[in-house]
Amino acid sequence: MADKSGIIKKVSGPLVIAGGMRDANMYDVVRVSKLGLVGEIIEMHGEDASIQVYEETSGMGPGEEVISTGAPLSVELGPGLIKSIYDGIQRPLDAIMEKAGTNLERGVDVPALSREKKWDFVPTAKLGRVEGGDVLGTVQETDVVSHKIMVPPDVNGELIELNSGSYTVDEVVGKIKTDKGEIYEVKLMQKWPVRVGRPYKEKLSPDVPLVTGQRVIDTLFPIAKGGVGTVPGPFGSGKTVVQHQLAKWADADIVVYIGCGERGNEMTDVLNEFPEIKDPRTGKTLMERTVLIANTSDMPVAAREASIYTGITIAEYFRDMGYSVVLLADSTSRWAEALREMSGRLEEMPGEEGYPAYLASRLAGFYERAGRVVSKGSDGRVGALSIVGAVSPQGGDISEPVSQATLRIVKVFWGLDSSLAYRRHFPAINWLKSYSLYLDMMEKWYSDNVSPDWMPQRNRIMALLQDEAELDEIVKLVGMDALVASDRLKLEVARSIREDYLHQDAFHEVDTYASLEKQCVMMRLLLKFYDMTEAALKDGASINKLVSIPARERIGRIKYVEENKVAAEYDAILTELSSEIDAIKREEK
Ligand code: ADP
Repeated sequence: MADKSGIIKKVSGPLVIAGGMRDANMYDVVRVSKLGLVGEIIEMHGEDASIQVYEETSGMGPGEEVISTGAPLSVELGPGLIKSIYDGIQRPLDAIMEKAGTNLERGVDVPALSREKKWDFVPTAKLGRVEGGDVLGTVQETDVVSHKIMVPPDVNGELIELNSGSYTVDEVVGKIKTDKGEIYEVKLMQKWPVRVGRPYKEKLSPDVPLVTGQRVIDTLFPIAKGGVGTVPGPFGSGKTVVQHQLAKWADADIVVYIGCGERGNEMTDVLNEFPEIKDPRTGKTLMERTVLIANTSDMPVAAREASIYTGITIAEYFRDMGYSVVLLADSTSRWAEALREMSGRLEEMPGEEGYPAYLASRLAGFYERAGRVVSKGSDGRVGALSIVGAVSPQGGDISEPVSQATLRIVKVFWGLDSSLAYRRHFPAINWLKSYSLYLDMMEKWYSDNVSPDWMPQRNRIMALLQDEAELDEIVKLVGMDALVASDRLKLEVARSIREDYLHQDAFHEVDTYASLEKQCVMMRLLLKFYDMTEAALKDGASINKLVSIPARERIGRIKYVEENKVAAEYDAILTELSSEIDAIKREEK
């Protein structure tokens, strides 16, 4: 151990340079000074190690000791993760508060998973041959999460003992005689280095949507299970509500939320808000299937880097169990700023706007860990890790490097728009600027699982919105009166699409979630309205009467109709609509 220790030469904010570290390795975790602050070696130059320290370094100076632990930054994976609130290096914030009070002491050592709590382990595997990823048994971690205890990815051999009963995470529940002839002691907990993606058997193509129940997302800009998306969040544009809606409603078993807030109070908001969110499926708190990673205000920005990797590794672990996991990272811009700061202190050659040249590859490396995969293990279970990262460019201008690099990686962009939010159009996702590159791949799924006309309808809706934007330009120039009747009708239909379809009230009991079936019926209704009124217009019906037809009122309210009554309401509205159109036509004659 002694040869892995060195002496501080220089301290520059979160960066510590230590000499005499010849035997240490890149990415080793080190303990800095008598306080034992946690840091990670991010560069080696001969004997000198550049260390990124994840705790405040004030008061630290040359001459103090640095000791390498000889191991990379790792997380503890096992029962107790769910409901936890961790900091960037997986220290449980609640347990730390208990131990050290609200004013975080430096160098506090609290294990990520409680060593005292006992879990009931129910073995499910038979003695005999096992391979990495095989499920050995389960622990009911919370009311909603059954935690699968798996053979670590790199262990293969013969399961020679497996017990049931009540255990802490570091007690031995079984034994595997590995192929190398060693005895591996099975515990409820395993460790994994955060910078290494957890292995899987096979990545599947992103052809299944992650259903969110949010119409503008599912219909216009869907994200795949295992997909990657980004949402920029100008202040007050509804970013928090979008994230909460995803956490609540997305088709996910587990939610991992990484908060890289700028100010301490932003993070406090998250810590206060998240536990308050009710899980609509169970009526319990959403924390029953959530892991929160938060950078507290007293941690240096460098910790944001660790929190990103800690969060994604925990998310991968639940994916490996065969679960659908959604990871929300807010905001990746804050992480990028931390990279920029470190890069500056390392005196690296700056790239665009001072960000390091490797910014894009770091971001890509993070998003690449998403995917729908066949897990390791012999049962062929499929898990998915979907990532939605928020970017928060200064002044909302997405031409800056972090947004641009992110947009080159992600396949879904939900462009939140402050002008829509100002007009109280929520979710304020701009339909002209947003996109999803998964549409083609998922078309077959929608056709097989919802309706063959899902995609054609979706495309008509999108085309109408685009036509509206063009017609709006013309109206601005020459006025509404100059439009032909068919274009006026088109504008009215587009308005209905915006107001009656895309607008969705997150706080309305029914409207907060719409199944794909309901979305399909609603689209069909709007397009039927268009087709029927357009035909009537051709037959000479008055445009003024058609656009103010009473049935429109009911069309606008179908979003508030409960799922099981939507089909009947659709039929009733169509009946009303056709008799009202007939009446208009009769009057004209
Ligand atoms: P941000 O996090 O971008 O600053 P919020 O998510 O807090 O903004 O949204 C600001 C306000 O906008 C919310 O308090 C809420 O009143 C309104 N809002 C946002 N999204 C919706 C929605 N889908 N339905 C209804 N109201 C919404």
